[in-house]
Amino acid sequence: MTAFYSTRGSGPAGLEAVLQTGTAPDGGLFVPERLAAFERGALAESGTPAELAQRMLAPYFEGSFLAAALPEICADAFAYPLPLADLSPASNGARLQLLELFHGPTAAFKDYGARFLSACLERILAEEPASSQPLTILVATSGDTGAAVASAFSGRDKIRVVVLFPKGRISPRQEHHLGCWDGNVQALAVHGAFDDCQRLVKQAFADSRLRKRVRLGSANSINLGRLLPQSAYHAWAAIKAGEGSHFVVPTGNMGNGVACLWAREMGAGIGRILLTTNANRTIGDYLSSGEYRGRESIGTLANAMDVGDPSNMERLRHHFDGDVERIRAAVSAASVDDERIRRRIRREHEDSGAVLCPHTAAGVDACRDWLADAGAPDGDWVIAATAHPAKFETVVEPLIGTTVAPPPQLEELLSRRSSHEEIPAELAALTPFLG
Ligand SMILES: *Cc1c(COP(=O)(O)O)cnc(C)c1O
Repeated sequence: MTAFYSTRGSGPAGLEAVLQTGTAPDGGLFVPERLAAFERGALAESGTPAELAQRMLAPYFEGSFLAAALPEICADAFAYPLPLADLSPASNGARLQLLELFHGPTAAFKDYGARFLSACLERILAEEPASSQPLTILVATSGDTGAAVASAFSGRDKIRVVVLFPKGRISPRQEHHLGCWDGNVQALAVHGAFDDCQRLVKQAFADSRLRKRVRLGSANSINLGRLLPQSAYHAWAAIKAGEGSHFVVPTGNMGNGVACLWAREMGAGIGRILLTTNANRTIGDYLSSGEYRGRESIGTLANAMDVGDPSNMERLRHHFDGDVERIRAAVSAASVDDERIRRRIRREHEDSGAVLCPHTAAGVDACRDWLADAGAPDGDWVIAATAHPAKFETVVEPLIGTTVAPPPQLEELLSRRSSHEEIPAELAALTPFLG
């Protein structure tokens, strides 16, 4: 049975508690006591992503009543195609493949984690007496998280969702996708940046009086229920792409980055990991200076990665006992500014017809840039394609000079009515919405 501990030392806690609370009581983030280790060959026997997820995550579910439901939970979260698609080869001949993580209900990778978590929580709540207090999931989004979480929890019994987003900093379609759900989902536009939204979430969780009154749960990538399934799709891609393939992970809050690292540590056979951020350089600066300095976020074209103080850095540092030398040996980082994102979207479309969302474009650019350099490792590359480009049409369409048709699942969402409320970035303005 796996126990879970906070990155700041408290624990142990059981799986069900960890999935419901997200943040540990001491303010840290929960991590498994140790990561399960597998033979790559054993993982490769899985016929589908759902089966692989089930195999990889079983050790973390051992001892919980949820273990019996794990196959169903994985089938629910991995119900969508997970293809690898070729880009044109790199200048050195290396194969470059996109891992298309955007075939779920809101066309972004966060559907995997959100659906996995909601499938778990639904079962946990169903075990409780009918009179038990409903759970309020409080989530901050820089664009995509909110829609994925809203979709995954919409209409579920005993669960409410409150989604905070930075007013005016997400695309009109994203805004629409946050407000078009059932009555158990409330979207709130916050006057501020994503970091303000994230701060409000942290303040709410730290407010003991509020938490006596309202049962709060989280669904940001601070929640372990999001990260674990994300490890499984990286492992799936590593098995399809071949042993030792290198990975490029566009990341903001470091959730996807940590998930990829965990997949490697669990035995997926992943080579180098290149973490890619937009102009928010906190991660890269930490790797080069050895000194962690969180800061205000900067608005960029890849707005789902506009994070200046990534929460999951705490998990990364904890994994390596805070030793920056070991972190440098494990991962690389690159920062790609808006100009390079624009150029990359244009170039890939001209060269091969590929249409990339801004986040994916940052990853592709960092990859090609590294490969043009003599210091890059040999071998093939997988680049996580984190969202469908139609979600960022206001950025992408002018650059490629043509429209990007939304996939059918987004068309359907756009045809629904959508509404939200606005609040200042203050806890007092938020609490009335929490129940
Ligand atoms: C959330 C998001 C990211 C960054 O994910 P992290 O969990 O912060 O690593 C990248 N791209 C898109 C489209 C996203 O929505």
